[in-house]
Amino acid sequence: MNSTIAAISTAPAAAGIGVVRLSGPEALVVADRIFRSPRKGQSLKELPGYTARFGHVYDREGDIDECVALVFHAPHSYTGENMAELSCHGGLYLLKRVLRAALEAGARPAGPGEFTRRAFVNGKIDLTRAEAVMDLIAADGRLAAKTALAAREGAIFQKLRRLKEDLAGVCAGIAAYVDYPDDDIPELAPDELQAALDRSEAILTALLSTFDAGRILREGIDTVIAGSPNVGKSTLMNLLAGCERSIVTSAAGTTRDIVEETVRVGDVKLRLSDTAGIRDTDNEAEAIGVDRARKRMESALLLLCVFDGTRPLDENDRAVARAAAGKTAIALINKADVTGSEDRLTEEDRVLLQDCFSRIVALSALEGSGRRELEQAVQDVTGVERLAEADAVLATERQRQCAETCLACIQEARQALEAGLTLDVIGASLDGAIAAVGQLTGETATEAVVNEIFARFCVGK
Ligand code: GDP
Repeated sequence: MNSTIAAISTAPAAAGIGVVRLSGPEALVVADRIFRSPRKGQSLKELPGYTARFGHVYDREGDIDECVALVFHAPHSYTGENMAELSCHGGLYLLKRVLRAALEAGARPAGPGEFTRRAFVNGKIDLTRAEAVMDLIAADGRLAAKTALAAREGAIFQKLRRLKEDLAGVCAGIAAYVDYPDDDIPELAPDELQAALDRSEAILTALLSTFDAGRILREGIDTVIAGSPNVGKSTLMNLLAGCERSIVTSAAGTTRDIVEETVRVGDVKLRLSDTAGIRDTDNEAEAIGVDRARKRMESALLLLCVFDGTRPLDENDRAVARAAAGKTAIALINKADVTGSEDRLTEEDRVLLQDCFSRIVALSALEGSGRRELEQAVQDVTGVERLAEADAVLATERQRQCAETCLACIQEARQALEAGLTLDVIGASLDGAIAAVGQLTGETATEAVVNEIFARFCVGK
């Protein structure tokens, strides 16, 4: 851990600026060996932290590039160690040569995520904040960036710290009473214990309740556009994808295969499949497509079911609606641009759609009207809308599992309390809950877990 590491921290592509980062006890010594400032006699090591100097980086062959060097002194840096960031022109040849110069001057190449790992090891951040770094870099929308930034700034960690302090206080009271029965220590009042369990359970339930929506926000949701032939599925796909992706014709049954595309609808990425129209058919090739479409409808996590608003529902449409019942599904009444399309559905059809779908949206896939209503409906039914209000969102399956374990231990403690079991039994469950929090924040995480987390990072982060 005491070595000094170096890496190119910017993307491996030509850019205006590129940064080579150094961290470790010798970071500023190494940087001084390859950096010359026009101000004679002033080494980077002697500069105060958070100071920048203009100069040149060089190696044995001479000047490499102009450079602005940024200086950080331990512990006031990203990693908690001495650090230098050398900002040069963002040419790959230049940056590789600057990195090589740093390695020749005494640094060693940084492994994936090693800067952030050092921040973790040096106690600058916990694991939830480390994991949020990758989410923040990967964020590709307003809400994803907002939740990742909140986690990066410690939103999850603060909640867990409060929870842990609460439980540790209760455990200390139990231990004192159990260990020194003769010392006149008052027994913890059951309602005090109950209140602590309620508080912890509320924190964990709130954190866990946003996990699925958070995952949808990061990874997108597997979505199928379903509907009878000719209702406008391909046209909708093209509207969402913003290009002519599917073949659109007015002959029923032309979309034979599943076309896939990822599109953004508001804050949500839909991993979309435009499927063959669902209807009974004698055509063999089309029948295969229809069968695949039915299977995709079953496995998809979000259904966009399209209906042609210019005519009453037929049996195929009703079959589509019934297949969507109980699933996360939105009914789209298409062709809203055609005058009079709003009153073509019978009262019976409307009731069927209301029974089978949590949201019904009128739109014109051809002209694009109703798109904002569709965005809102997608955000509502996927739960993503609620993330705007959530102050902390669990970011990984690892975090979810630790939170579930913690919650299970608290519920176990509650049952023990209600069953009138002795305080040491309750204390053992609470110890389990505290251990799960320690694993979540990384305080007691195993080396293998930590290795796995940082292996997902890229070099330079
Ligand atoms: P699919 O078989 O469900 O994929 O339907 P298509 O997207 O191929 O569309 C069938 C026909 O309906 C085409 O002639 C489209 O131009 C037309 N269509 C699709 N959406 C709309 C719409 O919103 N308004 C109108 N007026 N026509 C549409």
